[in-house]
Amino acid sequence: MAKLYFYYSAMNAGKSTTLLQSSYNYRERGMQTLLFAPKFDDRFGSPAIYSRIGLMQEAILFDKDFSIFSATKEALENMENLRCVLLDEAHFLTKAQVAELVAIAKELSIAVLTYGLRSDFLAEPFEGSKYLLTWADELVEIKTICHCGSKATMNVRIDAQGRPVTAGEQVQIGGNDSYVSVCMKHFRTMVPINGVSV
Ligand SMILES: [Zn+2]
Repeated sequence: MAKLYFYYSAMNAGKSTTLLQSSYNYRERGMQTLLFAPKFDDRFGSPAIYSRIGLMQEAILFDKDFSIFSATKEALENMENLRCVLLDEAHFLTKAQVAELVAIAKELSIAVLTYGLRSDFLAEPFEGSKYLLTWADELVEIKTICHCGSKATMNVRIDAQGRPVTAGEQVQIGGNDSYVSVCMKHFRTMVPINGVSV
């Protein structure tokens, strides 16, 4: 039985590298893979997933209105050995798209590996992650480390002046902000959780 997996982590844990490595493992064994990434993530100019260590593979770009199920079914017509769908930045999925991923695993019998963040810079869940955490057959944490050495589970948005951001849109495109992954103890020193700070 094909399964839906959610590999979740904080920022900068090497999710894209892990995704590309998994795809490579399938292809090395003669099986085909299909990759998806969010539409606004084509910062390198072509639709592909890139890792910081130099790997890349072409990807189909999705937005909120895109049917991942239909695209996969269409791809199956020319890829009879398609065994695995891999999806980067899965936190940007809608609830309906996560339901489509369940259908890809259970109706089309293709394994679905998704990679994404659990929470945003205000410690709120992303819609895609919320339903992946609820509906995936397997949850796998990709671990990364806070500056203190504890496991980092949270993401702090840092503005151009190096200060933590405590309000704003969940998705910010084209800004100068960057992200730092930290443990919950250190997150609370910078951003209030549900209005409660240290
Ligand atoms: Zn820490």
